[in-house]
Amino acid sequence: MVDEPWTSLAHGVACPLDAPRPPTTEYWDYVGALSVSSLYLSRNQTYRGHCQLIFDPRHATRIDQLSAAEWQAMASDLWRVQAAIVGVVRPDHINVESLGNVQPHLHWHLVPRYRHDPRWGAPIWLTSLADMVDTPLAEAERATLIRELRAALDA
Ligand SMILES: [Zn+2]
Repeated sequence: MVDEPWTSLAHGVACPLDAPRPPTTEYWDYVGALSVSSLYLSRNQTYRGHCQLIFDPRHATRIDQLSAAEWQAMASDLWRVQAAIVGVVRPDHINVESLGNVQPHLHWHLVPRYRHDPRWGAPIWLTSLADMVDTPLAEAERATLIRELRAALDA
């Protein structure tokens, strides 16, 4: 990706992560809404339970663009979501990442990590997106995982 489209996206021009978003895309399925963010289950489940948590109220690219109150609410959402994911998929570890190198709208990847996963001991992102292992779940398994995540969030 050349820089000009990124700069435009960072300024919020036609930002695909601004709310409202479609509940289902080629990248995710909607799981639930929190106080200032929404949770989506990534289509690629190479890391079982991999979710994205996206800031909802407006376009923002970085944490420092939030008010202190927005950040406190966002941090609380992150805490709730991580607890729910860990409770459902019982990983060996979890990575929480705010990158924005492709989509510069404030969002976090919550990536459960497993001792048997393809990149244990290292970040998952060292290759281009196109080179990453893509592991879709069967629809029934996917629906079960979404249901379990929703129940954990509501608990
Ligand atoms: Zn945006």
